[in-house]
Amino acid sequence: MKRKNRLLRLLSVCRVSSREQSEGYSLGAHDQANREWAERKGYEIVETVRYVETASKQKERQRFRQIVNRICSDPIIDGVVFHKVDRACRNLTDLAMLERLETQKDKKVFFASQEFPQNAAGRLGIGVMGVVARWYTDNLKEEINKGFRSKIEAGEYPHTPPYGYCMGQGSNGSKLPVPDAPKAEAVRTIFKLMSSGKHTIDTLRDELFQRNMYFSLRTQRWTRSHLAKLLRHPFYIGKILWHGQIYEGKHEALVDEQTWERVQQVLDGRNRCSHYKRMHFTYGHGLIKCAHCGYNITAELHKQRYTYYRCAQINHYEHPVRPSWVPESVIESQVTDMLDRLILPNEIYDWALAYLKTILEKDVDDAEQELRNLKKRATDAQATLDTLLLKAAQTKDNLAEEFLRLARQKQRELALLQQRRTQIAAGRQENNSDAAKILELAQRLSQQYVVFSPTQKRQVVDSVFLNLRLDTVNLCGEYRLPFSILVESHSRPLKSGRQDLNLRPLAPHASALAKLRHAP
Ligand SMILES: [Zn+2]
Repeated sequence: MKRKNRLLRLLSVCRVSSREQSEGYSLGAHDQANREWAERKGYEIVETVRYVETASKQKERQRFRQIVNRICSDPIIDGVVFHKVDRACRNLTDLAMLERLETQKDKKVFFASQEFPQNAAGRLGIGVMGVVARWYTDNLKEEINKGFRSKIEAGEYPHTPPYGYCMGQGSNGSKLPVPDAPKAEAVRTIFKLMSSGKHTIDTLRDELFQRNMYFSLRTQRWTRSHLAKLLRHPFYIGKILWHGQIYEGKHEALVDEQTWERVQQVLDGRNRCSHYKRMHFTYGHGLIKCAHCGYNITAELHKQRYTYYRCAQINHYEHPVRPSWVPESVIESQVTDMLDRLILPNEIYDWALAYLKTILEKDVDDAEQELRNLKKRATDAQATLDTLLLKAAQTKDNLAEEFLRLARQKQRELALLQQRRTQIAAGRQENNSDAAKILELAQRLSQQYVVFSPTQKRQVVDSVFLNLRLDTVNLCGEYRLPFSILVESHSRPLKSGRQDLNLRPLAPHASALAKLRHAP
């Protein structure tokens, strides 16, 4: 209400790509346009926020979010004006943020050079412009990638070259990475030292530091990751690695291939040593989450034999007590217990199989019946089609045209009938015994589980359970479909305490099993 009595006070937001900026489209031009628009409308621009599109998408998005938060929280600002929709957002998440500004925070969003009415059609317009902006970005990325590929195939390198090179000029005047003398010498020394086989990455770091070979003036010591990356980089032998493929580069190699290969062997050798072996834990790597804080349960090998599990965030404030290590055997026995619950009592199992069989038989009967019907209709249609074609051949001009038209109609009908027949035939094969198979599999699963390989165990756990959580030592979770139906179908009567009636488990399970048939 208050707003109506005064001018709308807006924030003018200008975003320009770095290329445009270097070409002279300054941020000022957009701001000027926004201000002129506001003056025409009788609004007031309280402040201009500028930001330049950067190479780091994350930083750019962070900046965008800051601006949106500022508009949300500042009571003085009634809204925001951008130059155009594609200046405001290049993706649909940003667009959604702007929409929330309007719908939830009661702020206005304007675009100075694109007027949208404040109604459903206007919002549609903004949405379409947003999608177009996204398409533009995607398309641009594809085009750029195409451009990069052709350059890389020609041996050129369109990125910033790695350490030891700087961008210079090739013989034909195009850009080409050339050795940057002192740094290139450092690269050669690093490869030479490593190829001797006397160093690990750690001792290499010390050696370089003692030799006063600094990474940069500010960061004197080389980091492990810098060295590891550098020593694996094929760029130094004149090759370009791009999207997983190796291309021949035009730039000068700093290291000969033999030395490079030797260094790779030294590095691989280190990786083969038991200390560096990557562990594969059956229930680790995010399969189970912590029931308290939601972080991954992590694993560790103790005494080189026993695997233990614990929440990765031991100091998280949501833990009632600091989590302790849980032995793998404790987790595994709980998993088998949970798999045990899939086992149906014998009489229910027999009944269920018989029930599924009768349903399947009925399905098969129905399908057979429909197939017979379809076949008859197809034969009839074929006969009519033949007659029509014959008549068309015997008559002339207009009448023949008419017969042909009817014939085409019949032909289409015939094609549809044929299609339906193939569908039914395929469905009959596919559907036939899936439910029975799931039932059988579930009965054997908990016994077989213990002899499965870790990978198979992970697969089973992942396909049977959902939301597995570790609550101190207790494993809890839900069953996925269709297994949840099995558990439900026999746990319910047990819970109701009417065990004596379980001998004839009929009505309550019929619906559950019907669900099992349709489960994926
Ligand atoms: Zn936790």
